[in-house]
Amino acid sequence: MKFRTPEGTRDIPPAQAEVAERWRNTALWQSLEAKVRDCFARFGYEEIRTPIFELTELFHKSSGETSDIVEKEMFSFKGRGEKAESFSLRPELTPGTIRAVLEDSLLEKKSFWKLWYMGPAFRGEAPQAGRFRQFTQLGVEAVGSADPLIDAETMILFAEILKSAGVAAWELRINSIGCGACRGGYREALRAAVTPELPKYCDNCRRRVERNVFRILDCKVPDCVALSSRLPSAIDHTCAACRGHMEAVEGALKGAGTPYKVDPRIVRGLDYYTRTVFEFSSSSLGAQNALCGGGRYDTLVRDMGGPDVGSVGFAAGVERILLAMEQGAAAKPPDFFAVAIRPELRAPLFEAVNRLRRTGLSGDMDFEGRSVKSQFRQANRSGARYALVLGPEEAAQGKVKIKNMLKEGEERAVSLDEAAAVLREGVRS
Ligand code: AMP
Repeated sequence: MKFRTPEGTRDIPPAQAEVAERWRNTALWQSLEAKVRDCFARFGYEEIRTPIFELTELFHKSSGETSDIVEKEMFSFKGRGEKAESFSLRPELTPGTIRAVLEDSLLEKKSFWKLWYMGPAFRGEAPQAGRFRQFTQLGVEAVGSADPLIDAETMILFAEILKSAGVAAWELRINSIGCGACRGGYREALRAAVTPELPKYCDNCRRRVERNVFRILDCKVPDCVALSSRLPSAIDHTCAACRGHMEAVEGALKGAGTPYKVDPRIVRGLDYYTRTVFEFSSSSLGAQNALCGGGRYDTLVRDMGGPDVGSVGFAAGVERILLAMEQGAAAKPPDFFAVAIRPELRAPLFEAVNRLRRTGLSGDMDFEGRSVKSQFRQANRSGARYALVLGPEEAAQGKVKIKNMLKEGEERAVSLDEAAAVLREGVRS
């Protein structure tokens, strides 16, 4: 019997020369992860890690009962033991992050935290290009500030991540969905406008009118999109304070030179958003063109039992960023590849390889009993700048031969210490 990955999941193998899906290689992932970590550090964000599963109730409370991910996309299972609680694989990382902030009393130690995370998320969606059941989210949560500048900062930061990843074709759309004070009026205005035409909307939308009318705005069914384009905009119903907030966010984005568009259709699918909401998308992706979504959530921390503080964050799909990247990445070549001229010299060569590795150099040798010719071919293919050769003559003198693979004919016998120095020089130059 042949085993396969579960539907909607993918392996990420090491880089290979010829592959159909360029994004599926760990060299590319590692290079993106390093760039992303650098961006987070430059913007003053610190990493937080939380479990990949949480109590199901956490997601009901935070993401919202009517959100798609809670309604129909969670992988849930019963815990063991007497309590037999229900747990769910995390469909997003914000709820766990806020739970951790409160559980670890972080806000008592410092009133404002800039946190980042990167890790797997799980949703039982119908798999398609760019849509998986296990995918990877990177994101930030800036917890404890109502400042519109921090809304702008999260967007500027994600634009910076895209720039360093080499994704040029992207678009940022922002909107304000108001606060507790003005959202009620907008909800009524929406209901009043939707009701006469309700039979023309899809089943999902008809169901949503009562529970969460805002969700009609992000329905992707073409007929619903056409109908809802005529509905009133949130921005026209926001209070003076929310309008002021939005103007400050826009001013900061303009000041930073981050291009954006105001799009009244951006409402985001989760319950906890207030005021600023935004999405990054890329025209180089297909139907699943969303790269990143985020926004402000001024009531979530309080609703989860914490203090009444404002927060803002985003989550982006790492696979989507990799799919949108224009450049690939090759695995970093080792500093050397070691070749044994005779089989009995493999053991001393193995010792030499490990001594060199202990000095911080990277290198490898053959473990398949290959011929000398084939070992040199392997050395070539590895991309190493130097081959380290151990023949009977060198072994008798307690030396090794180093051969510059990039310069024909440049080779000499040296002690292992000298070899380490030459290799290190080669690494630096
Ligand atoms: P959301 O909170 O649903 O807006 O998700 C944030 C980001 O995660 C999206 O913009 C996508 O880039 C990514 N994402 C969401 N769902 C999936 C999925 N099923 N497969 C791959 N990426 C996803």
